[in-house]
Amino acid sequence: MSLYENTQKTIKKAADTMKLSKEIRQIMDEPERILEVNFHIHRDSGEIQMVRGFRIQHNTLRGPGKGGIRYHPQVDMGEVKALAGWMTIKCAVVDIPYGGAKGGVEIDPRELSEGELEQLTREYIATIAPIIGPRKDVPAPDVYTNGKIMNWVADEYRKHYPSDDYLAVVTGKTLDNGGSLGRDSATADGGVHVLEAYFEKIGESFEGKTIAVQGFGNAGNHAVRILQSKGCKLIAATDSKGGVKNLAGFDAVKALELKEAKGGLAKAAADLGGEVITNDDILALDCDILLLAALENQVREDNVGTVKAKLICELANGPTTPEAHEKLVANGVIIFPDVLFNSGGVTVSFYEWEQNLAHEKWTKEKVAEKLVKSQKQAFADMDKVANEFKTDYRNACYILALRRIEQAFNEKHSAAAHGFGKV
Ligand code: NAD
Repeated sequence: MSLYENTQKTIKKAADTMKLSKEIRQIMDEPERILEVNFHIHRDSGEIQMVRGFRIQHNTLRGPGKGGIRYHPQVDMGEVKALAGWMTIKCAVVDIPYGGAKGGVEIDPRELSEGELEQLTREYIATIAPIIGPRKDVPAPDVYTNGKIMNWVADEYRKHYPSDDYLAVVTGKTLDNGGSLGRDSATADGGVHVLEAYFEKIGESFEGKTIAVQGFGNAGNHAVRILQSKGCKLIAATDSKGGVKNLAGFDAVKALELKEAKGGLAKAAADLGGEVITNDDILALDCDILLLAALENQVREDNVGTVKAKLICELANGPTTPEAHEKLVANGVIIFPDVLFNSGGVTVSFYEWEQNLAHEKWTKEKVAEKLVKSQKQAFADMDKVANEFKTDYRNACYILALRRIEQAFNEKHSAAAHGFGKV
């Protein structure tokens, strides 16, 4: 099953549970706009290389499109459609005024020089510039893109559409170029706030909980550092080449230093007093909290039977397939779905956009305070829906989001009926 079919299946489950109208089902079924672009870059070798890219706006009923740009050799239209669809749901779950979008370029950026990377970014933005904009569609970083690349995005857009608001065309920029304080750790922070709200509800605490993390990049390593500071014990971590397990616990900060110095967590296992494990081993580890912070489709029907964690937190997008999700729920596992758990990143992106439009610079404290409030509200809204329909948290998030999208549709419709616009 393709990633987009997974998205559609999850939407259908929620739509059936809440008895969603036929109109909204149809609207959610396919993206509003798919742009495929083909452009060329001049390689340092003198060769010309053709590159394919996409920008997809899944739904903009609630506001401008919002979603990252991914540079990856396996990017395809189906993946970008799925990621754009998840953004529509995510922005509605946290109730920020955006729709869902995503961009992707089929390239391995690790094979490009800095000059080639800048050229690639500028060519891609030049070709998609007519459909993006501060009030149309606002990109951000995703896999293998970063703040420096987002600065090039803003600058290239400015060349085509000069305006005082050009910085608001993209978020995740560097701090000296309109980026927001608190954006670096926002995805992890947002997830931890959701967990905190859950523990407050069930009367438990972080103290002594064992954690394992698959994926030790930006999202994963920030999350375990924060959880460790709250009293959790890190017992396993992996990156793309495997990792380390030490049931006595090891330090997340030291693990990151060693990973960088030695070129991978598995190579640091002995120094962390542990043993080498694979990415399959970590999924099967007996722990209180399993953080999935790597890629899509990690927990599937063929390996879900090995999972022993009681709580799964999805920092990555789409790490659990719909079939595996149903089995986990049947086994009593609590899953915090990606569309809620990793939403802190897009929420602080929204704060960056607000700051850019207002030409303001907020303090770290202000950003942090707003993020806590927003994530706890999203948890409470989702939990209420879960109780109302006696359903799992993923289904509850999708129901919550679809309700808000339906409301935006109805408002647009009634405005049109009164002659304010065309539907
Ligand atoms: P990153 O590139 O910084 O880190 C990814 C990590 O996953 C790396 O440690 C890499 O070695 C590891 N990895 C890759 N393949 C793996 C595999 N097969 N098994 C185990 N580990 C593997 O990326 P990131 O920004 O931390 O993003 C991770 C996930 O979180 C992605 O799915 C991304 O879409 C999602 N996400 C990130 C943010 C954010 O703000 N960073 C926001 C929302 C969602």
